[in-house]
Amino acid sequence: MINNGTIYLDYNATAPLQPEVKAAMTAVMGMPHNPSSIHSFGREARKLVENARLQLATVLECETKQIMFAGSATEINNHILRGVESMRILVLETEHPSVLKAVPDAVMLPVDADGVVDLQKAEAVLAEVPRGALVSVMLANNETGVIQPVKQLCDIAHNYGALVHCDAVQAWGRIPVVFTQLGADFMTISSHKVGGPVGAAALVTGPCIPVKPLLKGGGQEGNQRAGTENVVAIVGLGAMAQQIGESLAHMESLREWRDQLESAFKAIAPDMRVMGAGAKRLPNTLNITMPNVSSEIQLMNFDLAGIALSAGSACSSGKVSVSHVLTAMGVDKNTATTAMRVSMGWASTERDLETFAKEWARIYERCGASRVSNAA
Ligand code: PLP
Repeated sequence: MINNGTIYLDYNATAPLQPEVKAAMTAVMGMPHNPSSIHSFGREARKLVENARLQLATVLECETKQIMFAGSATEINNHILRGVESMRILVLETEHPSVLKAVPDAVMLPVDADGVVDLQKAEAVLAEVPRGALVSVMLANNETGVIQPVKQLCDIAHNYGALVHCDAVQAWGRIPVVFTQLGADFMTISSHKVGGPVGAAALVTGPCIPVKPLLKGGGQEGNQRAGTENVVAIVGLGAMAQQIGESLAHMESLREWRDQLESAFKAIAPDMRVMGAGAKRLPNTLNITMPNVSSEIQLMNFDLAGIALSAGSACSSGKVSVSHVLTAMGVDKNTATTAMRVSMGWASTERDLETFAKEWARIYERCGASRVSNAA
C-alpha cells in the first residue's frame, strides 16, 4: 500500500522511493553541486559522487574505477551496444526494447517455452559468427521475472571470443548480483526499480575494454559520459546500494506470498497459466493469465478497485499490445492478451496481496468464469 491508499504492484515499472534514500537525497538537494567545479561546492559534489561510487562498488563487488554513472539504464544499454567495436551483436529475443531497438540488425537468440535462452542454439550461432562478437543477455526478464543462465552463456561466448553485456536492471536487489560471479564483461544496473530515484543508473565494465562514448562533450566520468552529473540522483543510488541487503531479505517473504497466490488462483481457475513456470524466476514477479478476461478489462477493474499493476509490460505509449516476450515463448495471441504482470517490492505487504487475491477472484467470477460455464 502506498500513502494514497492504492495497492501498488508495479515495481518492475518503477518503485516508490525508499525513505532512507529520500533522506539522503533531501540532505543534498538544492545545492549548487557541479563536481567539475573547483570551489568548495564543487569539491563537496565530487566527494558525494565518489562516495556513492564506493557504496555501489562495495555491494556489486567491483572496483570504483569500473563504475560509470549515467542517467538511465536505457542510456547505458545504448552506450554499450552502440559503443563497442564488435563484429556482430547477438541478443535474446526477450530483451528489453532499450536493447532490441538500440541494435535493430542484431542476430536473435531464441528462448524456450519458459523464456530461457536455448544454450545449444546460442552456441551454434556463436560458432557461425566471426570472433569478436558481443552478446547482450538480461539477467532477469522485466515481464516474466525469468532468470537467464548468464554464467553459462558467458562461458560459451568467451570460448568463441565474444564479449557479454548483461542487463541486470530487474535483478538487482531481488536476487544477489555480484559482478565478478556473473562472468559478464559489462553490466547495467538501475536504481529506480528497487526504491532508488529515477535519473541514476550505472555501468560496470570489466578491465580494459574500450567503449566509444554515446554522449560527447565534457570529460565527465573518465571521458566516458559527457554531461554534468546528476549529483542528487547519484547520491540516491549510493544510498539505495546500502539498502540492498534489506531488499534481498524481504524477497524471501515475497517469494512465499507469490507462491501462495499462484496456488490460490490455480484452485479458482485451473486453466490459469503462469508464464515461465518451469524456470527460475525473480521472487517478486508473477505473470499470469486470467482465462477469458482481456488484460484491458482486468486493468480497468483493478484500477477501479485501487490496485495498480501492468498488462504484460508497461508500454511507453500507454497502449497494451501483444508482448514480444510472450510471443518469443510461443504463447498464442489469445492467451497472451489475458496476461497480467504483478510485481512487488520493498513496501509490499501480505495484506496487499490478500486484497489483490480477493479482487482477482471477484473479477474472474464476474468476467471470466461465467464465460467458461456458458461455453460448457
Ligand atoms: N532493462 C530492463 C530489463 C528494464 O526492465 C528496463 C525498464 O523497464 C530498462 C532496461 C530501461 O530502464 P529505464 O527505462 O529506467 O531506462
